[in-house]
Amino acid sequence: MIPATFDYEVAGSPEHAVELLAATEDAKLLAGGHSLIPLMRLRFARPSLLVDIGRLADLSYVRDAGEQLAIGALTRYRALKEDPLLQEHCPIVSHTAGLVGDPQVRHRGTIGGSLAHSDPASDFPAVLVALGAEIVVVGTGGSRTIPAAELFRGVFESALGPDELITEIRVPKLGSWTGWSYVKFARRAQDWATVAVAALVRRDNGGIGEARIALTNMGPVPVRAHAAEQALVAGDEEFAAHLADEADPPSDTAASAEFRAHLARVIGARAVEEAIGR
Ligand code: FAD
Repeated sequence: MIPATFDYEVAGSPEHAVELLAATEDAKLLAGGHSLIPLMRLRFARPSLLVDIGRLADLSYVRDAGEQLAIGALTRYRALKEDPLLQEHCPIVSHTAGLVGDPQVRHRGTIGGSLAHSDPASDFPAVLVALGAEIVVVGTGGSRTIPAAELFRGVFESALGPDELITEIRVPKLGSWTGWSYVKFARRAQDWATVAVAALVRRDNGGIGEARIALTNMGPVPVRAHAAEQALVAGDEEFAAHLADEADPPSDTAASAEFRAHLARVIGARAVEEAIGR
């Protein structure tokens, strides 16, 4: 279908984008367009104004920020996948970027767009929740930082205000974390996750000192598997049985809720095994 009529402006800076958002009711940012344009074509989204931030080259970067890496919101998946700083210090991010969609999607889609879109089936929300990442946003009220675990509020709902723009994502360097994994189950290689599991583990005196496990598409927002994390740290070999304890998986054409819970336990065990082995 053809989208409903809309106005179009190119933002020259993040501040300009915020001004345009604040000045027009129902204005929306356009980054890679790989989620927004399909919604507009289906007329699920009918913005009155599109504010194009896709040309803000200053928001595309990966920088060393001491104990963290700073990622510009406009950084595209392909750049994340190939970035040497990420590959060295936070390889779960470059690995995950390589699993998003297909080459076309990875050339256009941005990490900021993915987070703002808050699709429960998207890959980065769970990975960033497991990492304890921080999301930097600017709006008419100034700048603020939102922990990734507080950004996602529901299906396609985030904590962003209508005039707010994500500018940066901060992820920790995994120096003390010895193992990571993101395992994604999808029906076809280029599909969104039916279920996926992000796992980070730190070995300690021959056991697991700390574990952080987050699930994709097992509820309206990324789900931390606290019960499984605690069982793993306690040395319980049956920890995987608890992987879906806190989840509320949907039933849809890809899988029933029961099958999703089963998948979470199977690929979650695989993710933890991979993480321990890295
Ligand atoms: P856009 O579509 O431009 O915007 C999406 C939403 O975010 C809009 O509401 C927009 O206003 C808002 N927005 C954009 N940037 C910002 C910002 N900086 N600050 C605040 N709000 C902003 N995703 C996956 O995770 N895994 C997959 O396997 C996957 N497969 C896909 C397969 C196909 C065929 C397609 C078309 C998409 C797929 N996607 C997948 C989605 C893809 O990752 C999108 O690129 C992403 O969800 C949105 O990023 P974007 O830059 O395209 O954002």
